[in-house]
Amino acid sequence: GITIAEHIKRTAANNPESLALVDRHSNRRWTYSDFDHDTDALAVGLLERGVKKGDRVGIWAQNVGEWALVQYATAKIGAILVNVNPAYRSHELEFVVEQSGMRLLISQIVAPPHSDFHSIATEVAAKVSSLDLVFLDTVSEDLIGGVAVGERESFAHLIGQGREMLEDTGAKYAVRLQQVIDDLSADDPINIQYTSGTTGFPKGVTLSHHNILNNGFFIGEMLSYTPDDTVVVPVPYYHCFGMVIGNLAALSHGSAVVLPAPGFDPVATMAAVTEEKATSLYGVPTMFIAELEHPRFSEFDFSTLRTGVMAGSPCPVNTMRRVIDDMNMSEVAICYGMTETAPVSMMTRVDDSLQKRTETVGRVMPHLEIKIADPVTGQTVPRGQKGEFCTRGYAVMLGYWDQPDKTAETIDAARWIHTGDLAIMDDDGYVDISGRIKDMVIRGGENVYPREVEEFLYHHPAIRDVQVVGVSDEKYGEELMAWVILKDGFDSLSAEEVREFCSGKLAHFKIPRYVEVRESFPMTVSGKIRKIELREEGEKIAH
Ligand code: ATP
Ligand code: MG
Repeated sequence: GITIAEHIKRTAANNPESLALVDRHSNRRWTYSDFDHDTDALAVGLLERGVKKGDRVGIWAQNVGEWALVQYATAKIGAILVNVNPAYRSHELEFVVEQSGMRLLISQIVAPPHSDFHSIATEVAAKVSSLDLVFLDTVSEDLIGGVAVGERESFAHLIGQGREMLEDTGAKYAVRLQQVIDDLSADDPINIQYTSGTTGFPKGVTLSHHNILNNGFFIGEMLSYTPDDTVVVPVPYYHCFGMVIGNLAALSHGSAVVLPAPGFDPVATMAAVTEEKATSLYGVPTMFIAELEHPRFSEFDFSTLRTGVMAGSPCPVNTMRRVIDDMNMSEVAICYGMTETAPVSMMTRVDDSLQKRTETVGRVMPHLEIKIADPVTGQTVPRGQKGEFCTRGYAVMLGYWDQPDKTAETIDAARWIHTGDLAIMDDDGYVDISGRIKDMVIRGGENVYPREVEEFLYHHPAIRDVQVVGVSDEKYGEELMAWVILKDGFDSLSAEEVREFCSGKLAHFKIPRYVEVRESFPMTVSGKIRKIELREEGEKIAH
């Protein structure tokens, strides 16, 4: 296998002057040649600081260009990049620093308007004395907030030192770096990504070059990426959606990655599409909804868009139609996956019908196996029947970092990974994800899949977004509660109105008993709705 280091050097050699990376917030652009040089310089800077192959190097930042530099520089020296969620605060940061045995943390300084990364990182480093700190002082002023960092903690100094060493004594350091690159193996661990924590505590998924480079490369192939493509990435880098489906897919095909803003901003995202003449746009369904529903939507030009990826959670049919019709993304792909599978295992194809692209997550990716199995017996179920989605092949993680028991619960002896997702496969191999085993509601002995009820409720004229959860009930075991966000112009919606809307169209046991209106849903930073919180709040209201 080939490593990420070898691969980026090859891509840069073929397209030195093509654009690789654009950070629009700070108005900086890297060609492939710049990107290769900067990541070489950073790699040398890290080596000089004593970072070795296998050492864990954390990156705690929003979507800034430096994130991508750190990703590729660590890959070049075989250090294990630890993605740290920008929403974490001291308690969670300390947890991942200790859980991963992190040696160096490269941290953003501030993230307006709410977060001060500098004092949190400093506080954690004071507790964990083995932790070395570097702060991103090369980003735009508002992300530095006037905080002065010393030379030892300066990212500018770290990369500047590497640059000087490569220039002054070019041959020596270039040879040394090349030796380090030659010693890497594609099966080495290269990355620890903590899962989204949608269903519980995040787990440290350990991935190799082979896992993520191949996954990114195949995704890029399926999207027909070439050096003519420009990919707008508003999804977070700390998550596999940004770093694999974004960076690795685009950069392994010589395409450009555009970061619209440090955090998700619908206007900055739409402006990036228009001004960079983007061909591809990413998002989780809630991001696309925020763009489509934005009052300024009609000011932007989407005519250069061709494709994109929607992933992470099920997409409402209406949103999909509007993405295709109103954003010009006729080739948009739905991807399904999980951090543990590097991440994508299922994807729709360009020639799939609208129906397949709205009702399924497509077919299996090249070089992977899948099966739908009975969660209890592990036996493959017949086509058309519901079971647990399982995957096997190159993309399956090395394991959960330092948690062999959890790894053994998830990956069985035959190397199948059990996803915890419920799915149905049709005769042609298309798979419909029908929710998570943990989300299934059992009402009066009937299994209800919230996804199906949500799809139905999206047709209600007052409902913009909806999440259905189960809350406990003395009589039926569980009852359904619909949490809704109303469209503009509506200010209330009662349970009676919703029940009337469903009556005669949905089986009685699928009709929500409770309806609660709210302004927004609790989200993970990767843009997933934390149903667990809606369930907990629902319990309090229902009782
Ligand atoms: P945790 O494992 O910590 O609870 P998580 O499972 O949400 O968090 P990720 O690895 O980011 O963490 O997400 C993978 C999950 O996202 C899948 O198991 C699946 O439930 C859901 N998912 C991903 N893509 C899709 C999709 N296209 N349609 C439906 N669900 C999806
Ligand atoms: Mg998971």
